[in-house]
Amino acid sequence: MQQLPLSFHNDEQYLKRYFENEIKKNVSLVITDNSTSMLSIKKKGNTFVIRLHRIFLSAGKEVLGEMFEFIKNKKAKTPYIRNFINQNTHLLKMKPGRKVNMKTQGRYYDLLYIFNSLNKDYFEGNISASITWGKGGARYRARKRTLGSYNSHNNLIRINPVLDTKRVPRYFLEFVVYHEMLHADLGVAVNPVRRTIHSKEFRKREIIYKHYHRAIGWEKKMWV
Ligand SMILES: [Zn+2]
Repeated sequence: MQQLPLSFHNDEQYLKRYFENEIKKNVSLVITDNSTSMLSIKKKGNTFVIRLHRIFLSAGKEVLGEMFEFIKNKKAKTPYIRNFINQNTHLLKMKPGRKVNMKTQGRYYDLLYIFNSLNKDYFEGNISASITWGKGGARYRARKRTLGSYNSHNNLIRINPVLDTKRVPRYFLEFVVYHEMLHADLGVAVNPVRRTIHSKEFRKREIIYKHYHRAIGWEKKMWV
């Protein structure tokens, strides 16, 4: 269904183990879609939290090698990483789904329009994820509480088509899309020890959505 803009050579699990072997420390690896901070490393107790933009999943050995140097010695020069980012930035702007089987125009709402305006208003246009209405059908309806999802493997946001009706106010649908875009922006941890899907930072940013309270209120009233 989804055509990827890049061929991913490195499996996330492999990358995590590779990092752990090299630096002999626990690594919490978070793959992000955040193109303003492509690579960041923080030490949290005994664990190194490495946040990587997803383009690094296709990085070669030289680039990865430089990352270890960077982790060990913050001042290390990083010409390979720089080069790699420069060579790949055009790929970040590619919208993978345009020509594939993506469905943004619903019967009532156009997801692409909503996505683009949220991207501009809240993310400085940095979210490169694709968005589509999910498939309908019985299985999906049974899980209708799952209103949206973000898949970091194909960088795809899916929105439950039960929301594609005029009974659902625009601010509520926008809120669901905004929530999934936050997941894309903040990244999804690989094998987290404790599964905190909605971190403190996530909750803090979620409230920034300008109809947050209205949306939460509507959900409580209407969606039981
Ligand atoms: Zn969520």
